Amino acid sequence: MSTETILILGGSFAGIGAAHYALRHTIPQLPKKQGVTYTVTLVNPSKDFYWRIAGPRAAVSKQLIPPSKYLYPIEPAFAYAKGTFNFVQGSAAHIDTAGHTVSVTTASGQQQSIHYAALIIATGVTTPSPLFTQTNNGSDLESTYNDFQKALSTAKHVVIGGGGPVGVETAGEIAEFLNGKPGFLSSGPKNPRGKVTLICADKKMLPILREAISKTAEKYLNRLGAEVLYNTKVVSATSTEEGKTLVQLADGKTIQADLYVDATGVRPNTSFLPKELLDNRNRVSCNPRTLRVEAAGPLVYVVGDVGSYTRGGVMDMADAIPVAMTNLKTDLVAHISGKPPGPDRYYTANLKEQQIAPIGTAKGVGAFGGWRVPSIMVWFLKGRDYMIGMMALPTVNGDSWKKEGKWKPEVGRAGLSSG
Ligand SMILES: Cc1cc2nc3c(=O)[nH]c(=O)nc-3n(C[C@H](O)[C@H](O)[C@H](O)COP(=O)(O)OP(=O)(O)OC[C@H]3O[C@@H](n4cnc5c(N)ncnc54)[C@H](O)[C@@H]3O)c2cc1C
Repeated sequence: MSTETILILGGSFAGIGAAHYALRHTIPQLPKKQGVTYTVTLVNPSKDFYWRIAGPRAAVSKQLIPPSKYLYPIEPAFAYAKGTFNFVQGSAAHIDTAGHTVSVTTASGQQQSIHYAALIIATGVTTPSPLFTQTNNGSDLESTYNDFQKALSTAKHVVIGGGGPVGVETAGEIAEFLNGKPGFLSSGPKNPRGKVTLICADKKMLPILREAISKTAEKYLNRLGAEVLYNTKVVSATSTEEGKTLVQLADGKTIQADLYVDATGVRPNTSFLPKELLDNRNRVSCNPRTLRVEAAGPLVYVVGDVGSYTRGGVMDMADAIPVAMTNLKTDLVAHISGKPPGPDRYYTANLKEQQIAPIGTAKGVGAFGGWRVPSIMVWFLKGRDYMIGMMALPTVNGDSWKKEGKWKPEVGRAGLSSG
């Protein structure tokens, strides 16, 4: 009896989703081959899944979001697949596409070589601020939050770099923590305890959303005691001897901050991959319709924010994971049976105006499918608990992937272009 491995690198939204999809819909549909069984191996540096979406509030207050709400053990969530699922705590260090192996550095520092029949790259992105990225284990993130919360309790001026959703949400959470909730009709806090400054490189915040929504976001931030500086960038942030941070702006101004949060974007986790597999933004280059990583040879796919095909985000996974995993199944069936492959399933990016951003615990802005969403709806969908109650457990235990999802084959197979 031999075992063939569907190897998944990265255990977050994309990798966990791909693993559940493979166990529930891919492996059960493979043709039976005498003496061969297929299993899923998931490699991730931490044993815990991090509900990153809640980062802006969890970083600020463990009373509002305790660790048990943002960290979820991965292995027990796959108990239903005992014998077919393996978890390796470690990081992919090297890939040999010709030999179909990935070298993994395990948590105990050993090198493990894993041979794959099929490979899914889902190693995501790292944020410049340690507040929004889990590294080796959940307790490290907890101590990062403890340190931040201690410093925040005495902070008089906090600067946040970056006018995207993470910067806006973080500014709102910090401002409300420092200054409290404003009265119903007030335009600012009564007795502000601290100043919060959000630095936005553009003339508006929240790039995906229209300007009018950005203006409303600014109004809500102002009510909580946060100001927004537009059209300037953070050039550098250096620690001073007094324990402060000197934030240098592109327009020549400097701000001495008690705390600085860098929310200026993300960096793909691809340093273990050869350059030939990457695009010019260091994302994994793939066929944008099939999500195959064609330069890596057959049976290699990418899902999640690390892929060249996506503008990122958790909602996009609902479109991308079924595509990559259906094409993986088609390719594996052809590989096992020796018959020509069936039709491809295609990914189409949803590029509509779609994003919701809570601003403090009571307000928020956003749009869904091109329609502006009222503040109360943003609160209901996300602001209450950053979607933990609605989505965290189904994401980690695979209930989100109970159904394979319907699709119609298009005529022909997708071309070899890489996006
Ligand atoms: C603060 C914040 C708030 C957000 N809020 C929202 C939101 O409200 N809605 C939304 O749609 N999106 C949101 N996003 C974006 C969302 O978090 C990402 O789209 C999502 O995390 C991407 O998931 P992923 O699985 O592709 O990658 P990641 O979540 O980045 O996970 C990658 C995983 O791979 C692991 N890994 C890295 N390197 C290796 C390696 N060499 N070997 C093995 N494993 C490795 C990492 O440790 C990690 O566990 C937010 C992002 C941030 C930072």
